[in-house]
Amino acid sequence: MNIVKRQVPGPRSVELLAKSARFEPPCMSDQVPVVWDHAEDVWIYDVDGNKYLDFTSGVLVTNVGHSHPRHVDAIRRQAGRLMNCYSFPTPERVELSERLVGKLPQNLDRVFLLTTGAEATEAAIRIVKRYAGKHEILAFFGAFHGRTYGPMSVAGNANTRRKFGPAVPGGIFAPFAYCYRCVYDKTYPDCEFHCVKALDRIVESASSGDLGAVITEPYQGGAGFINPPQGWLKELEKWAVDRGLLLIVDEVQSSFGRTGKFLAIEWEDVHPQMVCIGKGIGSGMPASALAGESRIFDCMKPGEMSSTTGGNPLASAAALTVMDILEEQKLPDNARAMGAYLLHRLGELQLKFECIGDARGMGLALGMEIVENKKTKKPAASTAQSIILGAARYGLMTGRVGFYGNVIRVAPPLTIREQECDLAIAILDKVFSEI
Ligand code: PLP
Repeated sequence: MNIVKRQVPGPRSVELLAKSARFEPPCMSDQVPVVWDHAEDVWIYDVDGNKYLDFTSGVLVTNVGHSHPRHVDAIRRQAGRLMNCYSFPTPERVELSERLVGKLPQNLDRVFLLTTGAEATEAAIRIVKRYAGKHEILAFFGAFHGRTYGPMSVAGNANTRRKFGPAVPGGIFAPFAYCYRCVYDKTYPDCEFHCVKALDRIVESASSGDLGAVITEPYQGGAGFINPPQGWLKELEKWAVDRGLLLIVDEVQSSFGRTGKFLAIEWEDVHPQMVCIGKGIGSGMPASALAGESRIFDCMKPGEMSSTTGGNPLASAAALTVMDILEEQKLPDNARAMGAYLLHRLGELQLKFECIGDARGMGLALGMEIVENKKTKKPAASTAQSIILGAARYGLMTGRVGFYGNVIRVAPPLTIREQECDLAIAILDKVFSEI
């Protein structure tokens, strides 16, 4: 395979990055200094004409591949008909709601269409408080649910809350099932889900008796693709049901086929009372949804929950086409097959290189945890940064995430093929060998 090194960033990227630094706040920065120009399926082209294999999916968004012709066509046609009409129903919005309900577990019989992931988790938090009449929510270390105040207040990463003053009261935090770095120093399966059993003790000490719900991601993407062991979510569901708590699963990142099923909760046959959906639903068009049970949504009266662009016909038409493409191209199946293949190939790299502490994930939501060495497991964020820059120079676009900033994101669009996975592995092999 011919892997050629290019100048990254190129001159046009440098020029635009300087303009960005002059007119945009630094908090917008990303980690590979290139300016994207256009993209097609799994390929990105920057403004200097460099081509990259996309292993970010634009942060797990473009599930059907960049600018899928049918997706583009549906958006073009809808843009010429009707783009927004606030909360008046449209055929596209109503049809999308029906299609979504048809794909969800039976108890989730309503969807509330919104625009961003944070809006969906924010809406879930508001509804829980109204419905349950209780105001505390149990969340997990490392959790990320968005950046507005409600979701920020249940963020288990202090960076999300740092120096923003008091969060919305009621967030209670417990360790997530981060087995690679278990805070209880236990090993799965011998631990028998000690981290779930320990929740009672945490709630006893931290709750004022006003706990109404538990919110969790099925795997923690932002914290570094931390996948709890099989059975954890089911165990958590049992724990919540036994205590009369509602369960909210934040599938903003994991939905729409990303893990190899339409929703990640299908892997464990879990039935939360609310599920937050985002990113892949629009596959590039801003869209999100909160799915829930009608008995719960009924606690909100007409006009109490609305959003100017939520469920707009443009986003709804785009999402309907995304659903068609997912089904017709069997993309969840491809995510499952290619995910298993990539994880196997990442495992080979892990055996070969001392700095890859862990390679993990489900479907096409994978991560590689970079450490100083396998024994100490000390997080190596600067090495991870060198790896993503090195990979970009050889034509592979990845990103760096994680509680410690040391996890390489391996999350291509769900349309990826085996030979493209092989190319990515060959590039990573070369970069790791050089570092
Ligand atoms: N929830 C999860 C699990 C996420 O990964 C994200 C974004 O990364 C969000 C919520 C917030 O979504 P948005 O950035 O669309 O507001």
